[in-house]
Amino acid sequence: MRLYSTSQRDKVELPPPPGPIRMYFCGPTVYQRIHVGNARPFVISMWLKRWLDASGYDTVLVENITDINDKIYNAAPGASAELADQATQWYVEDTDRLGLGRPDHEPRASETIDEIRALIDELIRRDLAYAAGGDVYFRVRNFDGYGRLSGRLGEEEVPLNPSVEEEPSALKEDPRDFALWKAHKEGEDTQWESPWGRGRPGWHIECSAMAEKFLGPAFEIHGGGLDLVFPHHENEVAQSRGAGREFARTWMHNGMLRLAGEKMSKSLGNVISLHEALDRWGRETLLVYFMTAHWRKPMDLSSEVMEQAASQTETLRNAFRSKPQAGGDWTPFAEALDDDFDTPKALAVMHDWRRAGHLDLLRRGLDVFGLASLAKEQAAPAEVVQLAEKRRQARLRREFGESDSLRAEIEAAGWEVRDVEDGYQLVPR
Ligand SMILES: [Zn+2]
Repeated sequence: MRLYSTSQRDKVELPPPPGPIRMYFCGPTVYQRIHVGNARPFVISMWLKRWLDASGYDTVLVENITDINDKIYNAAPGASAELADQATQWYVEDTDRLGLGRPDHEPRASETIDEIRALIDELIRRDLAYAAGGDVYFRVRNFDGYGRLSGRLGEEEVPLNPSVEEEPSALKEDPRDFALWKAHKEGEDTQWESPWGRGRPGWHIECSAMAEKFLGPAFEIHGGGLDLVFPHHENEVAQSRGAGREFARTWMHNGMLRLAGEKMSKSLGNVISLHEALDRWGRETLLVYFMTAHWRKPMDLSSEVMEQAASQTETLRNAFRSKPQAGGDWTPFAEALDDDFDTPKALAVMHDWRRAGHLDLLRRGLDVFGLASLAKEQAAPAEVVQLAEKRRQARLRREFGESDSLRAEIEAAGWEVRDVEDGYQLVPR
């Protein structure tokens, strides 16, 4: 199997099965419900894991939860820990609803403080970091390979970097240097002891430490959104390679999701949460939508493209009402996925099977993407219909807490409820 890697700027062959294939994907910073664009790396990583597992690989997938970060302190002054807990719960609930299973490990930064402090200490001993005024900074000029991953050297980027992570600081020797440890500030409700004073870690070092804790000093794939290449991943490389680890062998960066042609981001105010998207379109349509674009390409989200995804989904579901035909070939599907995980091509192969009535292959293909539900019978049992009816009433009364908990009950019973124009629709999960 081959995957395009940002660091090699080319497709790179994975070792043959059983591998292992150890993967680290950067997960969310938990301070609000994740938006549907944040769900893309989650979906891609879970699909890739499912495909590698089905191809005979031993896989380990780590997806971290960033629960210490300036964004959280800023969003909830004095109460960041409560907000991070709440938003972690939302994240798990919302991604559970995708029905793709969970990564093998989902470490939190706040549970990795020992490893973070040890790594910072090692960087200081190697002269790659220095303490200043209670902070610790990475010394970029002493690390040879800085800029190799992103093709940027940092100097001109720092003042343009919109991240609240890296404010300019008079304590830095060089504007490219970035914080590994930050001294405690008035109003921050979490802090830890360290040899450099009380404080908390910077964002980048959290990922270096969490990846190593669960995958060891070298691993096959590091992934995340394209917006993380610089500075986040460049800085992870500097920290981990600087400390003598091989770190990630290949880098997968997924394209961004755009709403009306613009990158979806909180600061632009054009955000649809994953929660809303699932309520509005359902998991199957959302997954089919994600399949329609290659993982490296940007994607547009609009009502029109979601309608097209919904109609593709129904076409695939309807195929199972027809008589199955013998024959068909799995190879083109496997080839599409083995060559840079080309999901649009795999989807086209599934439509070929659908047209030809090769329903066994279609069922198997859908299962890789968490869509085996499309091949199931559709009549919901009476008690599930009753719950859905109660939920519809609750929504009419605008009791959304009640309606959410009824939805959870319906999902626990193996069904998904979707809001459609004149009521609801029940589909098997
Ligand atoms: Zn990260």
